[in-house]
Amino acid sequence: MGNRKYLVLGPCAAESREQVMETASLVCDLRFQISNLIFRAGVWKPRTRPDTFQGIGEEGLGWLQEVKERFGIPVATEVATPEHVEAALKAGIDYLWIGARSSANPIVVQSICSAILDLRLKIEDFRLKGVLIKNPVNADAALWLGNIERLEATGIPVAAVHRGCNHQPCWAMAHKVRLARPDIPMLLDPSHMSGDAKVVPMLMGKVAELGLDGAMVEVHAHPEQALSDRKQQIRPDGLMSALKVLNDATKSPNDEPTAPNDTELNWLRAEIDELDETLWDTIAARMEVSKRIGEWKKAHGVAPLQPERVKVIGERLKVIGERLHLSEQFMQKMWEIIHEQSLNEQY
Ligand code: PEP
Ligand code: MN
Repeated sequence: MGNRKYLVLGPCAAESREQVMETASLVCDLRFQISNLIFRAGVWKPRTRPDTFQGIGEEGLGWLQEVKERFGIPVATEVATPEHVEAALKAGIDYLWIGARSSANPIVVQSICSAILDLRLKIEDFRLKGVLIKNPVNADAALWLGNIERLEATGIPVAAVHRGCNHQPCWAMAHKVRLARPDIPMLLDPSHMSGDAKVVPMLMGKVAELGLDGAMVEVHAHPEQALSDRKQQIRPDGLMSALKVLNDATKSPNDEPTAPNDTELNWLRAEIDELDETLWDTIAARMEVSKRIGEWKKAHGVAPLQPERVKVIGERLKVIGERLHLSEQFMQKMWEIIHEQSLNEQY
């Protein structure tokens, strides 16, 4: 693929013909700085609740066909069943993607693969250009890799889309897949990764930093009116500066020809930054419980510092330290700092 980046841009869902055309037109305004542009829109939406917008269905495939004809860009939609695959391919959809919920179920993925194989023989004008597979909703690198293999058996080009889990990036999972299959393009999905429109342009920086092959981003002409994933969709022009930065980074490799490629270091740093955040989240949650313990103690006339309890915790630290291969001295030092702050919360 070289330096060419794939950008899969479009709304979470196709909602109306006007919304699809207006968004596609704004997406095409970005084209001057983009190598491989693909327009996306979901027509069958896997939603959490049954009383929300479930997608427009097959009618939306016609709108995607129209985008393809009017703007001359390839189009992509999500499939979750063999029937979806058949309808999408008959409508001339260029790329299919498999969503995170489907990706969590290997039987679903296999049924999609079988449908692709079957239709390859049945449809005369078979022109599927590729299939994108999102990571499963749970951070399971092995299952994601297994799904890549299932798809490869269809003979259609495959790309991975890293969208994280529960609005956490899960860099460790993606790093594993990247190391195991450096030959498979990997795109970033900052929209589902963050669930937050404000964070999306900033997260785009990870594409260049981690040497990824592009991004799938949810964009909408009027995000505030979106029928699904409203909080994470941005206007296409909101990506302008992030794309300029990506474009420049892609054009000029290393300033100094002798500088080592720091992509691997950036992956490791992404992993460690995420772990640090988890660490601080846990510490903050601990302080919160500590405060509640303080209130209980106050109400019952118990002093904040209880030497017996300190002894029990010290013993537990030894057991945990052995299991985790962490030195007793280090754990004791860390715990003293945390305990001191906990006591401060209680006085
Ligand atoms: C989507 O891309 O619109 C989508 C439903 O994504 P995910 O499967 O990652 O939640
Ligand atoms: Mn979505």
